[in-house]
Amino acid sequence: MASSVGARASLGLLLLGFGLAAATVAASDGRISGWIYLGSTLQLAVALAVSWRVARPDRRIWAGLLVVVVLSVTGQVLDRSVGEAAATQAAPAGMFLLVQLVLASGLLFISWRRLGSDPVSVLADGVIVAAGSWFLIWWWVLQPTIARSDDPWWVTATAGVTLSVSSIVLFTLATILFGDTDRSPAVWFVAVAIAGAASGDVLWASGDAGRIAAAPTWATASYVVSLFAASAAFVHPSIRTLVERRPALRRRPIAGRLVVTTLALAVPVVALSLTDPVSDTDRWIRTASVVALAAAVTARVGFTVRVNARMQRELERQARTDALTGLPNRALVAEQLTAAIVSSPSSGTPSVLFIDIDRFKNINDSLGHQAGDDVLVAVADRLRRVLPPSCSVGRISGDEFAVVNAGGRATDGATALAERVVACFHEPLAVRQGDVFVTASIGVAFSDGTSSAEDLLRQADTAMYRAKQSGRNCIAVFDASMLERASARLAIETALHRALERREVRLVHQPIVDLADGGVSGFEALMRWEREDGTSVSPAEFIPIAEETGTILPLGSWALLEALVHLREWIDQGACRPGATMSVNVSPRQLHDPAFAASVEEALRRAGVAPTQLWIEVTEGVMLAEPEPAVAALRRLAHAGVRVAVDDFGTGYSSLSLLRRFPVHRLKIDRSFVSGLTSDANASTLVRTIVAMSHSLELDTVAEGVETAEQLGALCAMGCSGAQGYLLSHPVPPRSVPAAIAAIAGHPDLEPVRRTSGG
Ligand code: C2E
Ligand code: MG
Ligand code: MG
Repeated sequence: MASSVGARASLGLLLLGFGLAAATVAASDGRISGWIYLGSTLQLAVALAVSWRVARPDRRIWAGLLVVVVLSVTGQVLDRSVGEAAATQAAPAGMFLLVQLVLASGLLFISWRRLGSDPVSVLADGVIVAAGSWFLIWWWVLQPTIARSDDPWWVTATAGVTLSVSSIVLFTLATILFGDTDRSPAVWFVAVAIAGAASGDVLWASGDAGRIAAAPTWATASYVVSLFAASAAFVHPSIRTLVERRPALRRRPIAGRLVVTTLALAVPVVALSLTDPVSDTDRWIRTASVVALAAAVTARVGFTVRVNARMQRELERQARTDALTGLPNRALVAEQLTAAIVSSPSSGTPSVLFIDIDRFKNINDSLGHQAGDDVLVAVADRLRRVLPPSCSVGRISGDEFAVVNAGGRATDGATALAERVVACFHEPLAVRQGDVFVTASIGVAFSDGTSSAEDLLRQADTAMYRAKQSGRNCIAVFDASMLERASARLAIETALHRALERREVRLVHQPIVDLADGGVSGFEALMRWEREDGTSVSPAEFIPIAEETGTILPLGSWALLEALVHLREWIDQGACRPGATMSVNVSPRQLHDPAFAASVEEALRRAGVAPTQLWIEVTEGVMLAEPEPAVAALRRLAHAGVRVAVDDFGTGYSSLSLLRRFPVHRLKIDRSFVSGLTSDANASTLVRTIVAMSHSLELDTVAEGVETAEQLGALCAMGCSGAQGYLLSHPVPPRSVPAAIAAIAGHPDLEPVRRTSGG
């Protein structure tokens, strides 16, 4: 409401200003125009007071305008009333100059705040324009004025300088107008006010020079428009946003500025060549003007060149540093390494440490990406502190850092350095979220003088990978055999991609025996991969790779359906109990797949197996990293009747609270405990404890890897509910399953069990 009143008042004021200006011209009477001028200044005083209370512009702008108005009005009143005495003329001349200086600085301030443009370059262009217009001013008004009047030369010179500064004002104003993305009404009103004042000044001076007879009336009319436009600007609501930052224009108005500065150069030169000097003074001033103009242009060019050079340096620096940590990035690390290799014969054997933060993903996932960034910055600081000045550290990517050690003389120099890095993380890192402990795996590679920087980095990376495999938080030094293993792994990765469609993957099944009656209660499906060349790859080798590359998703869903179809066939053939179950191993990656639960339900439906006949085996690792999506998928399946077993129980880190959060129905006691059952007291205590705990949590227990009759006997005595292992049956292909079941039915070591169950 208030704002629309302000907007209408502004428009009204501007129209009134034009009306009164027309009246001034029409009347063409010195007394009337004097009164109109006085009235205009009074209304501006009122408008400024209103604006201070209502529109609330930026206080600096408001104060600046107040100074401008007071100075220019006093100056004009003095100029109109005082006599021709030189001393009294000095005051208005000085005031007008001051007005233009205040206006110029105010506009530069606005252009800097509003457009973010570099005020120095705007000023530099403005000075070229001023120097150019100075010549025109000299030629159009000053020179004739000096010839006509007996004013002292410095009064005229001050007037000339004032007019030149006002051309800077106009230029800056144009920069704001044409560089602005949205020109608010206040900006336009300010523009009209300044243009009005400037044209008033030129007209007034032209009058003095005797160039235009009616100049004083026209000048007053211009001033009236200017005063009303200033009021309009200050009562308009948009005055508040005058110094607010605007979104930058995508295309800066370079062309416009270029045209203006070129004109400022060309017009004086043309005027100079077309007109002849009228006196010696004129000749000297013309020469001086050209020199000043040339100096301004030279300074501008020099300044631009310097700015460009600085920008170029900054861009180059940015392209070679990591924005987060301020460390050199991969490109710069490679450069430093190359330099170290080139100068190596004299300085010793260069080496690289490739540092990877262990389980960094966990930090990101559990504490958030901001914390992850903070940890990386803290790691960078720690590395900078702990490394000697002869080494340089850079960030290669994500959580990977590299240290270039140019002068390490002996092998243990670099390994000692790596040990120092491992040790420096024993103290926690303090980040905003609290203290965080990290560990690092480090690969070390030494230059042999022939390998390139990239080769060396790759070797250190390979060694780091080895350090990770051997349990993290340690160091590995590169040797050629690592590359062979790495390429063997790559070959597996590639072959695995096609294994499924080439039907190289199949399932074998290991019966699970119910220790209550000695019968086969179910089977565990295990994957086998026979490659084209006849070699067979162990699941322990290819499942982790399939997991990493994502191939586990198609492989896993194939295995699930295949296993359930097999179970359906055996039940239909009467080879096993109608209620027999199928256990399928599921990897974390599958559980995190949002489509997992649905695909299990679909497989059960297609195979025609009841959900209660399926066991999903997951390892404890699933419960640790990112448990939420896994919990959700398992809950959904458990709700449908599918049961969940924790595989290799006791080898991971699962806590009892995690066991409670997950819908778990069975613990599978890891083979390592079962194998020590009859020889190692600790193992036997552990198994007994697991079985007792399962009883009280109402969980089922199955012992894995049962290989001897003694182990079987011990498990029965402890009350374990199920067993699987080579003693009872190896994993066998589907067609051999009925035979395996028959063998178990007559298995001598199960005789005691059958006897006690009365079967
Ligand atoms: P697991 O689920 O713990 O499977 C039991 C492993 O123990 C199998 O090894 C099995 O052959 C072996 N085993 C059974 N009885 C005995 C015994 O008495 N003595 C000894 N020494 N070993 C025995 P396998 O088939 O090599 O599988 C290794 C692992 O690979 C499995 O451990 C499982 O974690 C994974 N795996 C196998 N098939 C699949 C699958 O289809 N999907 C997923 N995600 N993982 C699978
Ligand atoms: Mg298993
Ligand atoms: Mg197992």
